[in-house]
Formats: sequence, C-alpha cells, structure tokens
Amino acid sequence: MTDPTYDYDLFVVGAGSGGVRAARIAAGHGARVAVAEEHRVGGTCVIRGCVPKKLLVYGAHFAEDLDDAAMFGWDIPQRRFDWPVLRDNVLAEVGRLEGLYGQTLANHDVTVFKSRAVLTGPNALRLDDGRTVTAGKILLAPGARPALPEVPGIEHALTSNEVFHLERMPKRVVIAGGGYIANEFAGVFHQLGAHVTIVNRSDTILRGYDEQIVDRLVKTSLAKGIDFRFNAGFDAIERQDDGSILCRMKGCDDIHADEVLFAIGRMPNTEGLGLEELGVKLTERGAVVVDDQYRSSVPSIFAVGDVTDRIQLTPVAIREGHAFADTQFGDKPCTVDYQCIPSAVFSHPPIGSVGLTEGQAKNKLGVIRTYTSDFRPMKYVLAGRNERALYKIVVDEGSDKVVGVHMIGPDAPEVLQAAAIAVKAGLTKADFDATVALHPTMAEELVLMR
Ligand code: NDP
Repeated sequence: MTDPTYDYDLFVVGAGSGGVRAARIAAGHGARVAVAEEHRVGGTCVIRGCVPKKLLVYGAHFAEDLDDAAMFGWDIPQRRFDWPVLRDNVLAEVGRLEGLYGQTLANHDVTVFKSRAVLTGPNALRLDDGRTVTAGKILLAPGARPALPEVPGIEHALTSNEVFHLERMPKRVVIAGGGYIANEFAGVFHQLGAHVTIVNRSDTILRGYDEQIVDRLVKTSLAKGIDFRFNAGFDAIERQDDGSILCRMKGCDDIHADEVLFAIGRMPNTEGLGLEELGVKLTERGAVVVDDQYRSSVPSIFAVGDVTDRIQLTPVAIREGHAFADTQFGDKPCTVDYQCIPSAVFSHPPIGSVGLTEGQAKNKLGVIRTYTSDFRPMKYVLAGRNERALYKIVVDEGSDKVVGVHMIGPDAPEVLQAAAIAVKAGLTKADFDATVALHPTMAEELVLMR
C-alpha cells in the first residue's frame, strides 16, 4: 500500500467528523496519513454545530423545567438566567472535545497541519507556508458553510458560526429559514427569554418531515409565543443608531430585532481548493460529485460528508469516512447503506423521524395504514402544561411492515433511535403489537397504537 513516491498514503482536507474518522481508520490500517485543518479540529459538529447546539438546547429547557417544578413541590424563589455562564461553559466543553479529537489523531500517528490545503495536482497540495506535500490519495472532507443570500445589509446577520459566541442574549430575534437550525434556535432563544420570529420563504417548514408532525410543531411553537412569517423574505437589513436591526421585509411588515440569524441551508466548501483547475466535477451548488466508493472524477481524489451535499448529517459523514478508509486502505470494500437513516430536530419539543412519512409511503406503496397516539405526557399533566406529544406509525398494508415512525414530544429523538432499529430490521406492526409495553413511559405508546 505504501508508495514511497509520495509523502503520505492519504492526505485528508478537513478535520471534521468524516475526515477524522477516515484518517484514524486509514492510519489503523497502516497508512501514512496527514490532515490539514484551517480552523479547529472537530469540524462543524463539534465546534459550531451538533454539540454546542445540543448543550444550548439542554440549557434552554431548564426554563420550562423550572416552571413545571412548582407542581412537583419545588419552590424556586429566585430565577435568573446568566447567558455568559452557559455560553462560556459550552465553549469550554467544545475546547475539551477539540483536544480529544486532536489526541485521537496523535494517538494514531496522523500528522496534523494547522493550515488550509489547496490542491495543486491529483496527488499534490500546497499548505499556507508554501510547502507542497504529496499523497497517493486525497480525501476532501472540508464540510459546508452557511448559505447567505445577496441582501443589502446581510453583514449584520448572524449565522450558526457566530451564534454560539453572542456577547449578550438578545431580546428580539428574527430567524430566516424553516429548517433544522431555524427551528432549533427558535426554541433556544425563546426559552432563554427572547421574542422569536421565524421568516420562511414558503408556507412549509421542515420539508421532508411528516406533515402532521410539523403541523404539531408549528402549533406548539405558536402557543409558546414563537411567531411565524410565511411566504416572506428580506429586502434589506439595516443597523439602527441604537444598535438594533430593522428588517425591511417583502411579504410581511418590517420587523425590528436585536439579532437576525440566517439558517437557509449550507453550501459545500469547495471554493478556492483548486478543484475546478484539476477537473474535479462539481454540482451546480459546488458539491463534489462522487461514485459509490466516494471517488471523484479524478481517480486519486475522494470526498465524504457535507462537501458532497447529499445527507448533511454527522453520523452519515462518519460512516462514509469509515467506509472510504476500509475500502481504500483496509482491503475491506464496503459502502454506506442510506436507507432508513433516522433524524431529529432538537426543537422545543423535539422531533424524531425514521423511514417514510405518510405522504411518501402513499406515493411509494399505494395502500398504507397509519396509527397515531396523541397524548399529554404524564409529567405535563401534573405540571399543568398544556402540551401534547404525537407519535405516528406508518405501515405498508401489503406486508404489515412498519415503514416509518415519526414523533414529536419530550425526548422524542431518544425514543426514536430505538424505534429506528425496528424499522431498519423490517419488523411488522404485529411485532410492535406483540411487544409488551414498558409502563409508565411515553415510549410505550409505540406498542399500544391500535
Ligand atoms: P435546512 O436545509 O434544514 O433548511 C433550510 C431552510 O431555508 C428551508 O426552510 C428552506 O426552504 C429555506 N431556504 C433555502 N434556500 C433559501 C433561500 N435562498 N432563501 C430563503 N430561504 C431559503 O438548512 P439549515 O441551515 O437549517 O441546516 C443545514 C443542514 O444542516 C440541514 O439540512 C441538516 O442536514 C444539517 N443540520 C442537522 C441538524 C440535526 O440533525 N438536528 C441540526 C442542524 C443542521 P425550502 O424548504 O423551501 O427549501
């Protein structure tokens, strides 16, 4: 495997989830591996994505938990939220995890260059200091970045890159977009005391999720006090003399805010990497086109994760990086199975989903059955919280197989992960029915729907 013509057997561009996994596994197979990372080791998920976001979601949820505590006998006379404490603790945890990722690479003898790497040939890259390094194979794993529209004043807007570093908690937040990040941060900001307005270009949010579940999120969000402006967009974003922001809108009235967060999708990070010059085929959005072995149109160059703009989820990038390394360096050819990938939105309340939605199942399978459980969690009943959870099972009429499970409610993603095993395994509704309920839990609803 080792070719002395090159400095390394594998050079990975980007030390995020996919890149670190590929580097570690390839090194474990005996490859000489180097990684270049221009920002921080850990990538989007660890540094400015899943991890700090989830910690903020936990932090924000205390607002409701403290409200609910009263009916459970807790008298909490003084409640005061201190944003810098949460922010700094989260950032410290991110720093700790970054260190662990770096340690993992060091333990596997992977060389880390704290530098941008630009491809200068099918087997060559240039680092910031002008050095050229060569490798038998190059893996592109530089991830993606928040998309920003060409709106006057867009420089006043935040993206998910900056949102974790806010100096103070804003009182009014406008969030552009209706996807994962918009709904997750709407929950966080709202719980932490801000008034939130979500602005979406259409009347559909969380496209691809089951409509009934999304409808429940919208209704619950509205009931909590989150505002929505559908079929609306931005004409301009203006900074006012007092430091606040005026959003000049189309499709709705102008909105005054303290912060504006844009979360309208993410673009692959391929600009300026030298790819076009080498003839690496890119999509219209700039994603690297790869085959089922993650090979680009240039045989020595591969790509995994968000830069391929397929399923922008950390566990998918990790699996792709692993499969790439096993295939190319471990003599274990394998591919990733993209069927039945579970997903979650860490909104308030959160959503968990796997398999076909009701609409998708009707289109694909024709005759289906659906079962729903619309219930008020026991904890909320005692707390006096008027919020309902909704679980839904989609079943193929012909085979009785459960082809989709969708849920919104407390801890829905935790419950969904286990349900995803059943859907992935092709279990039937009869198998669900035959499973004895675990009482009293919310999850038992999964086996009690008739
Ligand atoms: P999403 O793709 O989830 O949502 C983008 C939203 O912005 C949609 O509502 C979309 O509308 C809208 N939109 C797209 N383009 C424009 C435009 N030009 N102008 C106005 N609105 C637009 O993107 P996010 O930024 O929220 O998240 C990026 C990705 O990161 C996600 O796709 C997901 O893969 C990943 N992620 C996953 C999380 C998780 O697993 N919990 C959490 C956070 C991010 P429309 O539907 O009409 O296209």
